[in-house]
Order: sequence, then C-alpha cells, then structure tokens
Amino acid sequence: MAGDLIPDEVIDAVRNHHDIVEVVGKYVHLTKHGKYMKGLCPFHSEKTPSFTVTPELQIYHCYGCGKGGNVIRFVEEMEGYTFPEAIKMLAEDAGIPVTWTSNTGGHSQEQDNVRNKIIEAHELAAKFYHHILNNTVQGEEAKRYLIERGLTDKLIDQFMIGYAPVNWDVLTRFLMNRGFDPKLLEKGGLISVKNDGEGYYDRFRNRIMFLLRDRNGKPVAFAGRIIGEGQPKYLNSPETMLFTKSRMLYNMDLARSAIKKVKQIVLFEGYMDVIKAWSAEVHNGVATMGTALTEEHCLLLKRHCDEAIICYDGDSAGQAAAYKSIPMLEHVGIKVLVALLPKGMDPDEYIKTYGGDAFRHGVIEQAVSVTKFKLIYLRKNHILSREEGRNQYIVEAVKIIAELDSSTEREIQLKELSKEFDISLDALKQDCHEFRIQQQNFKQQRDNNQFSWNNGRNEKRKSERNSRSSTVLPAYVNAERRLLHVMMRNRDVALAVHDKLGDAFNIANHIAIAAYLYAYYASGYEADAARFVATLEDEELERTATELLMMDGGFPFDEDIMDAWIQDIVKVPKLQEIERKKEEAVRAERAGDPIMAARLLQEINSLERELKNYLQ
Ligand SMILES: [Zn+2]
Repeated sequence: MAGDLIPDEVIDAVRNHHDIVEVVGKYVHLTKHGKYMKGLCPFHSEKTPSFTVTPELQIYHCYGCGKGGNVIRFVEEMEGYTFPEAIKMLAEDAGIPVTWTSNTGGHSQEQDNVRNKIIEAHELAAKFYHHILNNTVQGEEAKRYLIERGLTDKLIDQFMIGYAPVNWDVLTRFLMNRGFDPKLLEKGGLISVKNDGEGYYDRFRNRIMFLLRDRNGKPVAFAGRIIGEGQPKYLNSPETMLFTKSRMLYNMDLARSAIKKVKQIVLFEGYMDVIKAWSAEVHNGVATMGTALTEEHCLLLKRHCDEAIICYDGDSAGQAAAYKSIPMLEHVGIKVLVALLPKGMDPDEYIKTYGGDAFRHGVIEQAVSVTKFKLIYLRKNHILSREEGRNQYIVEAVKIIAELDSSTEREIQLKELSKEFDISLDALKQDCHEFRIQQQNFKQQRDNNQFSWNNGRNEKRKSERNSRSSTVLPAYVNAERRLLHVMMRNRDVALAVHDKLGDAFNIANHIAIAAYLYAYYASGYEADAARFVATLEDEELERTATELLMMDGGFPFDEDIMDAWIQDIVKVPKLQEIERKKEEAVRAERAGDPIMAARLLQEINSLERELKNYLQ
C-alpha cells in the first residue's frame, strides 16, 4: 500500500490544508463554470478545456484524457512524484511536520535504501573522478584540455567535473572496497557486467566526467565526454530508477534560484555551454541531456518560468533544433525568444572568443522574437539575389507575419518587408489579410473535426466519448454509474445498496469501487470524495471514481428509483444468459438437433419466468 509508512492523520492534514483549486491553479489557469472550475488539461494537448476541478468535492477530472484524483494525485502526476514524495512536498509547504520514516519517497523502505545507496555511490564516484582530474598524472591531459577550453579551477570545482582514467576497473574496485554491492552499482549505471558474465568493469573510461544532479542537487548520473575527437562524443549513464533523460535538465539544481527570480530560463544544447554561460553570469541556463527537447521538459520548465530564451548552436542543426523547440514551448504557454549566434559558433566558442560580457549583452539580451527568428531562418533557405527566390521568400514571410496576433506587430513587420524589397505596403497587407482568413478557416475546421479527421484513433475516441454519454448507454450501465455517484456522496445510500445489491455490479471497475466504498464506510468515515479517492490507490480506479463523482447529478433520486436501478443491474446476467441460450437454440435447430433445441427453449422459458418473479 502506498501510504503504509505515512500516518493517516498526516495524509488527512495534507488534504485538508491544501485547497485543490489553489494547488491546481499554480499550474493551470482555471475559470469558473457553475459549480466547477475548468481549464486546459496539463496532461494532454487540447484546444478547448476539458480539465475540470470541483471545489466542493476537492477532486479533478479530465474528460479528454481521463486523468483524475485528489490534490495528492495531482501533485504526483504533475511533478512526477511518488505518493510519499507528493505528501512530503505538500506537508512541508503546509508546515506539517514530516516525521515518518520514508524520506526520499520510494514506495518502500527497501527501495529508499537502494536509491540512497546509488546517490551515495555517485557522490563518491564524483569526488573520485574530480580528484583524479586535479591531482594525478593520469588527469593532466584532461585538465589541460579543460583549461584550454576556457574553464577555470573554480568552475571545475563548482560543477564537480572529473576524469575517468583509461583503466578498466578503478572505480569498480574503489567502490567495492568501500563496501558497495556491485549489483547495486550496475543498477545505478556506474559499472557494467563483463561479457562472459564474470565480474564487472567501469562504464566510463578515458572520459571527462560531467556530474548530473537532479533538481534537488542529488548526484544521479554522469555524462562522459571524449577528449578531443572520437565517437561517441558523449556517453551518458543509462536510464536508471534515478535518471530519466526525457525529464532531466542539466544544471536545474544550481539554476533554480536564478530562474525563480527572473521567471526566465536560457536553454542550451551542451553542458559546456551551460558552464561557460554560468561564468558569464548567465545563471539561469540549463541543457537537455544530448537529446531533443521533450514535452516533459516543457511541462517541467513551465513550472519554473514564463519565458525561455533558446540559445542553440549557430550551425544549421542547432537552428533546426531551435525551430522545432519553439512550438513545443509555446504549446505549454511559455513565451519564446531566440538568441542568435554567428554562423557555425556555439555559445561556448562565442564566450571563449568574445568574452562573457559580449555574450550577455550582445547575445542573450539581444534575443529576438519568434517571428524575427523564423524570418531569419526562412531567409537562409532562399537565394535572395534571384528574383524567384526573392518572391518565394516574400510570400513565405507574409505567411509567418500573418500568424502574429497583434495588428501593430504585423504592421511593423510588413513595413520592414515593404522597405527592404520595395513592394507596396498595401499589397503586402492585402496578402497578409488573406493568409489570416485562410489560417482561421483551417483552425476552425481542425477544431470542428478534432475528433474525426484523418486518423482512426480519433474515430475510436469519438465513439468512446459518445458511448459515455447517458443517452446511448444500456440502462444497467447508467444505473450502475448513477448509483455509485450517489453512494460516494451519501453514506446511507451506500449502506442500503450494500444490503440489497452487494457486489453484484456488472462492470469490473464498478465492482471494485463499490468494494472500496463499503470498506471505507465500514471504517467509520463519512462521505468525503477526496478522502475516499485517496484510498483507491489505483490510477484507473481513481479515474473512474472521479469521473462518476463529477457526472451531472441532476437526475431524480429516491428509494423507489434506487430499487428500480438495482433491478436493472441484477437482471443483466440473467438476460445475458437468456440471450446466449436463444442463440444456442437457433444453432441447434440449424444443425438438425430438435431435441437439444426443445430443451434449450424450456430452459429459456423457466429463466424468463424466474426473471419475471424476481422483478415483481
Ligand atoms: Zn487531459
């Protein structure tokens, strides 16, 4: 059980202290719709809000992707936390003493121990590599290389840069001598098993070692860079229980306070860029782990900043990566600027050549708008000295400008274009206007057809969505859903249903929710949606429960209605059996077996009688 180590009082205190609207409001812009608050779902892409929070029940539910739960589940999902981690964060936030034993947030004490051990091993390994770089003959070449690249001793210390020597097993022996279990070291990605299965060897050899710390500053992985040329240029730790590339941003721990202050982040491609930028007093810089920016990165960034400056390499690969990252960041609501570097230069080289001040004032502070960047990018792909290239460029440029929401900004950009190419401003404006109409039509069409166009998966979703609406559901499904809706809000109704129906629901999730609900009330609790949902401990059940809790409760309800629903539910298995036997009878007749067919008909009759008596 997820909450085993944490006392119930703490979980209750955490839930009572945190209003779900307030907590969700930190991540999602919510607006009031009657009893509910609505906003764009933070867990899936959408244009119209289907993410719903109810202050009354203190739960959330998304009608688009189905995610739902209470305030604790929300923090788990949003921050990628485990249950204990989420409780810990919320408790600390509320000033509730964190006294239980689970401190790093694994699911069990044993898992916690493994995590702590792996962190400890990385701490020691980092010190070991750092020592070799600074104090041994083996590290001299690497040290010289780093100094040549413009790093100072201070930076090398601050970022705990080290050197892994060429030997096959120095780290393995070092850590094993300190009592570490090699299996654990392998699990943590520090060492590997030999091919023949006998013994272990160091994962990193003859590489400059960059220590990767999680957002809390805990060392969890390494990136090893080759000295000089060679492949692979960077070797990362494998993904482990502590290290996921798609979620990790280099330097997030050190950059955190600067980012918090300015609400802005500078995105780099490489570790060296981040470190060199730091020396140029750009303290809000982070980098991805040698991979492209992911949706998870963007959601993580959104929690810390409102604006991002993309500062990628000046070569075409870097610029293409910047181009791709823009919509991803904008999609989560981050305003994007792009810092431009001379062709072929990366930030590290720029700082080495022109110095930190020039980088800060001339590159970062001069970052251009997305439109400007797109125009510059576009320009590179057309040969402007030829008429054809020029015309193509102008048409494409007007399209980009047409995407701007502000008419003033559009006018400014069009004027520049008009001046540069000596074309009448009116003509450009006319074209721009037409593109805007086209774009709007396209958007409208796309929104209207959001669930039906061009892909079968969406078709499926559409039918799933429809099947959820009460008009097309079979009566018994509706009855089960409504009954559970009332039962979760009313203890007496639940107790009555317990006596009359027990666990005889027909849908698996409904059976499970009912069982949890009976147990919940049996423990003496009153109806409390958020508290009950916390006892489910299963994501799918939580989703179903929140969906049922949030369905429109505008239907009439009294004891007679309840009994009628129970009958609808109970007769289902009998009706299904009758159906089955009817089919069998038809098959028997066709197969020339009248005796069998007659027997089946008899059985059907008696089942129907039974059903009739039961329902009277
Ligand atoms: Zn959603």
